[in-house]
Amino acid sequence: MSEAKGLSPDIFDVAIVGSGFGGLCMAIALQRDGIDNFVILEKDEDFGGTWRVNDYPGAACDVASHLYSFSFFQNPEWTRRFPPRDEIWEYTRSVVHHFRLAPKIRLSTELEGAEYDEATGLWTLATSRGIMRARIVVLAVGALSRPAFPAIAGLDRFKGTVFHSARWNHAYDLTGKRVAVIGTGASAIQFVPEIAGKVARLDLYQRTPPWILPRRDRAITRPERWLLRHVKALQWLYRGWQYLQWEWRYIGFSSMPWLIRAMQAMALRHLRRQIPDDAELRRKLTPDYALGCKRVLLTNDYYPALTRPNVELLTCGIEAIGEDGITGRDGVVRPVDAIIFGTGFDVAESWTGFDIRGRGGVSLAETGKDGLEAYKGCAVAGFPNLYLIIGPNTALGHNSIIYMIESSVRYVMGAIRAMRGKGIASLEVKRAAQTRYNAAIQERLKGTVWNSGCKSWYLAGNGKNYTLWPGFTFQYRRITREFDLANYD
Ligand code: NAP
Repeated sequence: MSEAKGLSPDIFDVAIVGSGFGGLCMAIALQRDGIDNFVILEKDEDFGGTWRVNDYPGAACDVASHLYSFSFFQNPEWTRRFPPRDEIWEYTRSVVHHFRLAPKIRLSTELEGAEYDEATGLWTLATSRGIMRARIVVLAVGALSRPAFPAIAGLDRFKGTVFHSARWNHAYDLTGKRVAVIGTGASAIQFVPEIAGKVARLDLYQRTPPWILPRRDRAITRPERWLLRHVKALQWLYRGWQYLQWEWRYIGFSSMPWLIRAMQAMALRHLRRQIPDDAELRRKLTPDYALGCKRVLLTNDYYPALTRPNVELLTCGIEAIGEDGITGRDGVVRPVDAIIFGTGFDVAESWTGFDIRGRGGVSLAETGKDGLEAYKGCAVAGFPNLYLIIGPNTALGHNSIIYMIESSVRYVMGAIRAMRGKGIASLEVKRAAQTRYNAAIQERLKGTVWNSGCKSWYLAGNGKNYTLWPGFTFQYRRITREFDLANYD
């Protein structure tokens, strides 16, 4: 960038935080524009983000494989309709290799804080490996990077093994052990069937039953892969077809309750088919809120796992954890050797867990303490030259996040191009534009299923939804296509 010329190598044009899909996509876009003076900070010992870290047994994605890749680097080699975690991780590695990104990634380098200096228009970043400076900071830290452990009394007293699904303890052999699993979300329903046949006993603590639909997975045959590899147009056609299949679900989630009811009927049929003989178990597993309000889960082997004689679904709630086990609210103490938390992530903390100070020392954590608002999910008033990927109200309940990442990256690149083209040292979104934008977002969320009354990680403590994009994904693509300089100071 022109204004960065002559800066010392320790002053980067762009510092990207996070090396998952968001960070890598941003880096590739910079490279394409000939910007090479950037760095990617990664807190972990390896790149890859969510899909590297979440390596619990059975981990897989429930968005179609051929949508779960960058549009500019499609992957004809997926072996299944839904990608297993290992294939996504393999794909991530191929991205880093193909775009020669490895030298740009600083591993085991955690962002602790960042401060904006108005005089120089530069950010000073405090990392676990020292200080660096950058003109632009892109936070691509992901919403699902900080494992959440619920505050259950006595957890610190437990003498057995404890771990979270996002930090799976592969060194611990579960064979023959008495295991408690807390949580029945997207992660738990994937690893429970994997471990149920190994453990001596499995106590599964469910707070809210999820809606579950059949997982229509299948192998992608060799001839299909051959065709996708050799006929580029087919890759696009197939991807487009998958996109439409996922995108239509938004119609139901936003405005057609009868479509949701039809999907609920399908889910209940799935439950009856898979658990035909146990009405009490079916009752415990029947949700009492609208399908889609929490993330809809896809699995064919979770319900059957719950019918095993060594598995018990517990809905009594947890009173406390003791040295040797868990006491339920039913007063029963159930001794266990290990507790696995499938309790999800601290989504709010993903933006506010750093000490980031913008213009005039304003704190991002303070700004977002009740839920962070951003303009088009990417820029926050008071924080010049700071951008977010998968920022507020850009996550999805119905389609591939990669599509949203590419849209946000395109927008941020628009900002960077505007800076370069016009010799601008600093860009900050106007507060009025941000307020107007978010009022419209919240208005639009009002009639959707996500705000229909259940408790989910989509909602902040104040009940507002700062997480999901309330529209078709192509509508987000449209508003991020051009950078709107007029809305920036
Ligand atoms: P999650 O969906 O947030 O589920 C957390 C589970 O823990 C819920 O069942 C929750 O119950 C329960 N829980 C939380 N605190 C509890 C407490 N104090 N006592 C008892 N239960 C408690 O987390 P996740 O399963 O890790 O998934 C997070 C997100 O990651 C998903 O929504 C999805 O976006 C993504 N993901 C995707 C895939 C995939 O593509 N297949 C797989 C894994 C994860 P309540 O429902 O009552 O809160």
